[in-house]
This record gives sequence, structure tokens and C-alpha cells, in this order.
Amino acid sequence: MNPFDLSGRSAVVTGGNGGIGLGIAEALAAAGAKVCIAGRNADKNASALEKLESAGASAIAVACDVNDSGSIQATIDATVNAFGGVNILVNNAGISALNVPEAMSDEEWQSVIDTNLTSVFKFSRAAHSALVASGGGKIINIGSMYSLFGFPLLPGYGASKGGVVQLTKSLATAWAPVNIQVNAILPGWIKTDMTATLGDEEFAEFAAEIIARTPAGRFGEPEELGGTAVYLASAASDFVTGQSVAVCGGYSIR
Ligand code: NAP
Repeated sequence: MNPFDLSGRSAVVTGGNGGIGLGIAEALAAAGAKVCIAGRNADKNASALEKLESAGASAIAVACDVNDSGSIQATIDATVNAFGGVNILVNNAGISALNVPEAMSDEEWQSVIDTNLTSVFKFSRAAHSALVASGGGKIINIGSMYSLFGFPLLPGYGASKGGVVQLTKSLATAWAPVNIQVNAILPGWIKTDMTATLGDEEFAEFAAEIIARTPAGRFGEPEELGGTAVYLASAASDFVTGQSVAVCGGYSIR
């Protein structure tokens, strides 16, 4: 038996319509899972769905705002209706708010805390009964290097991603008795829409600093989170819970 095989499992990936989320959705599908990608942008949802289906995946796309409780429940319900249950939840949707603390508005702070942290709690809570009905399952939360480190322009983002690590531990302890393992992946610097401005000339020096600090000597690709996600979604990690795994080219150890 292949412990990484996800045949017969179904997964919800929030923000699965692009970037890291799509990289993870593709990897879960390649390992045999049926995948629901949940994002706000209809065009991105459609093109990501086409990409998954053209690779032979069984997939659906649901219009979902992770800040809306009705939308969260509708996504879980759509997945249960399409695939018969939910076995895996990847809480990946996230935004960044760049500002110094003294100038950060209430709205900037709240939107990043709501999207990156509160939604992880709400989606996990909404998925709980479907996961229990499936005999247990896996929750994978996406943190960041700023779950660990400080950065002057990311007070809200860092607080939200630090919170994701602690929430992961609380959910893991609460739900181990019902066979739900909850872990986090902490990506390093990955090439996605979120980091696209680092390709601009004005950020060239900062991008060079990141590469110099990263032992691998480069940014990561969204697909490079997929293997760790498959591991944490599969039976191979059944005795692993509450952990945060850095996938960062070594950024976290320098
Ligand atoms: P991205 O390409 O900008 O993707 C963000 C995703 O989140 C999009 O699919 C977006 O979908 C979705 N999203 C945002 N707000 C949402 C909302 N309210 N409801 C539903 N979906 C929402 O950036 P990414 O780099 O792949 O980011 C994915 C995750 O990785 C985030 O949690 C981010 O913090 C984390 N991360 C990224 C890096 C990096 O270097 N790129 C490093 C560490 C951690 P729509 O466009 O449809 O809204």
C-alpha cells in the first residue's frame, strides 16, 4: 500500500485558484484526491478548474469568500454533494497588508486578521462535522516565515500567521480524539501574485537580500509546496499533528 495515495479522498483548498493554493490542489489531485478549489475571482476559478480537469483531475470550483460564514458553509456543502464527503481541508487563502505599525489603519489590520486567521478557525469549524463523518481527516493551514520572524512592514500579517501556528496546535489537541490531524506549512518566499512586485526594479535590492539569505539561493515555485501537502494530507502523516513544517529553501535556519 502506498501511504501517500489519496485515491477516494476529497479535499477543499481555499484560494486554490492560483499561486500556492493551485500548486497544492494540483499535487493533491495528482496523488488521487478529488479537489474543490474555493476562491473569489470567477475568472481565476474557471481557469484553475480547466487546468486541473485537463490534467485528469476530478474537481469543482466554488465561488467563496472566506470572510463570509454562509460562503464557507456553502463550500463544504458543495464538496459533500459533489464528492460524498470531505477528508482534507487546506486553509490557504490569504492576503498581505504592507504598512508600518504607526500608520496601519483599523481596516488594514482587521482585513488581514480576518482573512488569514479568523477564516482558518471558521473554515475548520465548518468542516469539523464532515471530517468526523468521514472517520477523521486532515487540516493543513498555511503560515509563513512571518509566523516565526518579525518584519517592520507586516505587523498584521505576522500576527495573523503567528496565530495560525498556535491555532493549529489548539485544533490538533482538540480533534486528535476524532482522528483529525491538524498541521501547518510555513512557506518561504514563493513566486506568486502576492510577491510579484518583488520583480519590479524598485524592489530589486530587497529581492536580492531575500535570495542571499535563502540557502537554496532562489525563490520557491508554488508547485514546491505540493509534496509536503500530500504528505500532510495522507496516511503517511497519521502520527503527525500540531506541527509546522517550513518549506523555505532553508530561509528559517539562517
Ligand atoms: P496569491 O497568489 O495572491 O493567492 C492568494 C489566494 O487567496 C488567491 O487564490 C485568492 O483568491 C485567495 N483569497 C484571498 N482572499 C480571499 C478571500 N477573502 N476569500 C477567498 N479567497 C481569498 O498568493 P500566494 O502566495 O499563493 O498565497 C497563498 C497563501 O500562502 C497565503 O496564505 C499567503 O499568506 C501564504 N504565503 C505566501 C508566501 C509567498 O511568498 N508567496 C509566503 C508565505 C506564505 P481570489 O483571487 O479569488 O480572491
